[in-house]
Amino acid sequence: MNDRIAELHQDMMAWRHDLHAHPELGFQEHRTADFVAAKLAEFGVEVHRGIAGTGVVGTLRAGSGKRAIAFRADMDALPIEEKNDVAYASTRPGVMHACGHDGHTSILLGTARYLATTRDFDGTVHFVFQPAEENDGGGKRMVEEGLFDRFPAENIFALHNWPGLPFGTLAARVGPQMAARDNFSISVRGTGSHAAMPHLGDDPVVAACRIVAEAQTIVSRTVDPLASVVLSFTQIHGGNTLNVVPGEVTLAGTCRFLDAAVGVNVEERLARVCRAVGESTGLTVSLDYQKGYPPAVNTAPAVAVAATAAGNVFGLEHVTTEFPPSMGSEDFAYMLAAQSGCYAWLGAGPATPGKLLHQPNYDFNDALLPLGVRYFVSVVETVLGKPTNR
Ligand SMILES: [Zn+2]
Ligand SMILES: [Zn+2]
Repeated sequence: MNDRIAELHQDMMAWRHDLHAHPELGFQEHRTADFVAAKLAEFGVEVHRGIAGTGVVGTLRAGSGKRAIAFRADMDALPIEEKNDVAYASTRPGVMHACGHDGHTSILLGTARYLATTRDFDGTVHFVFQPAEENDGGGKRMVEEGLFDRFPAENIFALHNWPGLPFGTLAARVGPQMAARDNFSISVRGTGSHAAMPHLGDDPVVAACRIVAEAQTIVSRTVDPLASVVLSFTQIHGGNTLNVVPGEVTLAGTCRFLDAAVGVNVEERLARVCRAVGESTGLTVSLDYQKGYPPAVNTAPAVAVAATAAGNVFGLEHVTTEFPPSMGSEDFAYMLAAQSGCYAWLGAGPATPGKLLHQPNYDFNDALLPLGVRYFVSVVETVLGKPTNR
């Protein structure tokens, strides 16, 4: 296995650099999808396009087995101006692969080529290339458009390169690995007034401050102290001069949590605070609460497969299943909500300040490409039979 994958490494780097030079934002991954589809077809993998717009699914069968598994890679880039001085730097102003999705796509393409060449497994493998991971829920749309009805699989696996985790270590935990992300905005409307005559109006500034202050008790007084949740107000807008009380103040913020029930509680309590302040002040308070990505929750059987598979290729000392989840969020959560699976972090080595995920000097570590393929191929061998005739 290792010799073949070492051969693949040069090609995967070339693919990764090509994708890196041509980054595309969510649901605009037309060139990327063309690239992926052309490679899959070249490898002899059955290609399905147009799922969630630019999504691509490749299907490969070997032997007569009825079992099937799926792998997911994300294809989108971020609206960041690249600051790296490399030959393959982004050619598109203001758009950059700053999260390593160029690397994830290349790993899954490398996996497809390896498996299509060897066909040493018994069953079906689906390669899912999703659009719009970062903000727009491309994974959600793929599920809504029947991903798992059209391409049934007993488990779906994904990986994300993870700066700060030792190089070549795989980390996957049972339960939530990434948090849910909800966003909200609140508008407080009344009648503005002369700042010296507040009794002639009703003051949305004071009311907005009350909402912010009272919302602080939601997490501290109504959520189990052992649960992980954060409610942050991140915007307050209102007024533009010193001697006028404005007629409207708007607030906005975000809520992150690991347990969906905790999120429901926060939403209900925030609505209650808004209603109470509106009733007691006579102001019109409206809350627009937007449910975002759910928590990314791994199932125990899928994590067991991931740990065994990674242990076989990296050594068990390079596999960890006991670690705290991240309060960041991940669109793969929608697939995990619909289907048993495992989202894992692949350690990318030391976290260098300025070169972290979503930073303009970040670059995917090319040395991870063969490790990602070895892990995915090992998952296939673990679930669909280990080849015997190599
Ligand atoms: Zn990202
Ligand atoms: Zn990412």
